[in-house]
Amino acid sequence: MAANKDYYDILGVSKDASDDEIKKAYRKLSKKYHPDINKAPDAEQKFKDVNEAYEVLGDSQKRAQYDQFGSADPNAGFGGGGFGGQGGFSDFGGGFEDIFGSFFGGGQRQSPNQPRQGEDLQYQMNLKFEEAIFGKKSTIKYSREALCKTCGGSGAKEGTSPVTCHKCNGSGTIQVTQNTPLGRMVRQQTCDVCNGTGKEIKEKCATCGGSGHTSQQHEVKVSVPAGVEDGQQMRLQGQGEAGFNGGPYGDLYIIFQVQPSDIYERDGSEIYYNQTISFVQAALGDEIEVPTVHGNVKLKVPAGTQTGTNFRLKGKGAPRLRGNGTGDQHVKVKVTVPKKLNNDQKEALKQFAKASGEEPAGHGKSGFFDKFMN
Ligand SMILES: [Zn+2]
Ligand SMILES: [Zn+2]
Repeated sequence: MAANKDYYDILGVSKDASDDEIKKAYRKLSKKYHPDINKAPDAEQKFKDVNEAYEVLGDSQKRAQYDQFGSADPNAGFGGGGFGGQGGFSDFGGGFEDIFGSFFGGGQRQSPNQPRQGEDLQYQMNLKFEEAIFGKKSTIKYSREALCKTCGGSGAKEGTSPVTCHKCNGSGTIQVTQNTPLGRMVRQQTCDVCNGTGKEIKEKCATCGGSGHTSQQHEVKVSVPAGVEDGQQMRLQGQGEAGFNGGPYGDLYIIFQVQPSDIYERDGSEIYYNQTISFVQAALGDEIEVPTVHGNVKLKVPAGTQTGTNFRLKGKGAPRLRGNGTGDQHVKVKVTVPKKLNNDQKEALKQFAKASGEEPAGHGKSGFFDKFMN
């Protein structure tokens, strides 16, 4: 297949060559190897290679695609074509293949009648905060292009089978002689009788109209791993769309979308929670109950705890997807100050202030009493 060739090598230019350098190299080499000029046995092949390389590198879009994926086929990249379940089947036969098919087809590229894998599909799965942490078993339903149940994918009417194409003898390509500005050339193009499949269907299957595929409802059991995060994806092999010419099914990519929690924040396997305590609890210390996704947990707040202090509840976070164990829950304590006090409380705090050697209320600028006594 064309993807295995180093087009830069063929043209003898560097990977960062300018468009001009590429054009010059192509002109020089296409003259040098032109079959009308060069009678060496490998000249024709080299001529074809040079043209093939220039088809890609001479086009900035195809060159960028080639640089990224090592192929100029737009379907070579992840999710190319048909992603989302729409145009999988109509994408058959991309524009780029057609260009090669017209000019320089033949031995170098993948023959159109070879098996091809079906399109990949994408499915977005919404998960509640806790479902992402503990995992979930679920059955999802979606429609996809699948092999026709009537003909089993052959496209031929029940009881009949496709036969070898009479025009191309099953190769999927035919040879056409053409005059070009560079001279007379024999080129290959996709057979117009079988559309490159190499097979002819005399009587078409009534269910699928000869395509071999129909849109079908499909169910897949999905086991969501414990600890998945928002935006992560999972590949289910063979759950995409049906292949062509006996090729395998494409894959299904499940993309997880995790709902945020009202009370927790999550970062990977770590969970963050803000806990308010009273200033009495903070000053005297207390044992409090803290909610976690694993249920309530007792937490000892030591006497003299300051607001903003962090506590760690080991193993009360989310499971780690790779590797062992579970993350922690981090509890950040916020000390609250009462907004209103009754007389008894005021009296108690005055006593407290006295015991602390602070000025009595209302007579000074004691920061402590300013907060409570107004
Ligand atoms: Zn059918
Ligand atoms: Zn044919």
